[in-house]
Amino acid sequence: MLRATNKKNFWDLTYINIFWVLPYSSVVINTDCAVLISFWHNFISKPFIPKLLRQPNYLLWLSIKNLIFEKNLSITLQKVPTYDDCPYNNQVDLLAKCSHSFPQSSILPTAYLCTPCIVSYDTLPIDVNIRHFLKSIYDAKNLLNFSSLLRFSQLGPPDLFDWEGIYFWISCNKEFATHKNGQKGFLTFRLKILLDALPTLSTLQKRKPSLYLSGWLCPLCNSASEDLNHLWTCSYIIPNISSRATYQNHIATFRDACIEKISECTSVPDSFGSDFSNLDCWDFTTPSSLCLWLTRGLFPAALISFLIKFLPKAKILTILTPLLFQLHERLYMDIWLPRNVFFHHWLSLQFQTEAFTQPSSVTPLFTSYSSLATVSQDSWFSWVSSSIIRGGSWISHLDFLRRLTVQLLRISF
Ligand SMILES: [Zn+2]
Repeated sequence: MLRATNKKNFWDLTYINIFWVLPYSSVVINTDCAVLISFWHNFISKPFIPKLLRQPNYLLWLSIKNLIFEKNLSITLQKVPTYDDCPYNNQVDLLAKCSHSFPQSSILPTAYLCTPCIVSYDTLPIDVNIRHFLKSIYDAKNLLNFSSLLRFSQLGPPDLFDWEGIYFWISCNKEFATHKNGQKGFLTFRLKILLDALPTLSTLQKRKPSLYLSGWLCPLCNSASEDLNHLWTCSYIIPNISSRATYQNHIATFRDACIEKISECTSVPDSFGSDFSNLDCWDFTTPSSLCLWLTRGLFPAALISFLIKFLPKAKILTILTPLLFQLHERLYMDIWLPRNVFFHHWLSLQFQTEAFTQPSSVTPLFTSYSSLATVSQDSWFSWVSSSIIRGGSWISHLDFLRRLTVQLLRISF
């Protein structure tokens, strides 16, 4: 009678028994595990199939097959009831329970294995799916290279972030990993905010300084460089519907959704919500560096450390990943896309103006009207009125942009 605590134990026991059986013997193995009997019929009692190499502990399986063949054994697996009050059954039950306290013997000595070849790593036989094994090494190297990028190491020590969590949302999110859903722009956006490679004005000024003049500031507020963080903190046009306010609302929604989902999954103390909200990464008013990094998908280690007191890490990541996806989707739709619409109009205006003024003066005129901040009060009020009447996201009214363009062109003439 064999009673194993898992498949690996079962095969260890089977292997040990068969190894000492005399040739030409008939062996009956009683077991209460129907799944293992099914495995036996699929892989051991049939001719070899390559699929066997993908099974965990395949070295033991191959060894058992070889032993049966070499010793010409007849093995029969017999299903027995789990609890039939048989003395032998009770005895193996006891042994199986005791095995929990034994040191894990996951790999038999290589000398006992009877397989045509053994693939090893650092002298240890690889007893798992080799393709998965190689992929895990490849992934680990990639993650190490990724986390060692200068753009991340400049932010602080590596343990500032939970790289496992970051890797999880990058690699496990199918919507992120594939372009099949038709949201190529959104996928690019997610990757670029993570890498801080979004083509903001300050990024473009570094890449093509001859095209994007160094004196140009944020097209909206004309008071700061337009870099990634400024996208979320620009307080122009109207305080309540500025990108800053939009960003703060979305981070608050993200935070509240985290609290709600986690509270649904486990029992948390009454103070959980306030303790969670007090984490530095939720300080979206300042905003804190951790909050800006979290926005990019860089999970702070402090956030995961806090949550791990209530849930296993795998569960935490399963909860956070779709919520982060939703946050990015909102930032993309409500801030980045409207910003792009305006930016391209603004940019074409800059280039047109530059072309008009080039013969008479080399001094760029952007200093006088390069920003919405210089829009006439009439245009400004009519746009505000339009946005209030028609609703919708900020700067989504193209007629405002048209009026703005006309106004500016009129001024330029
Ligand atoms: Zn701005």
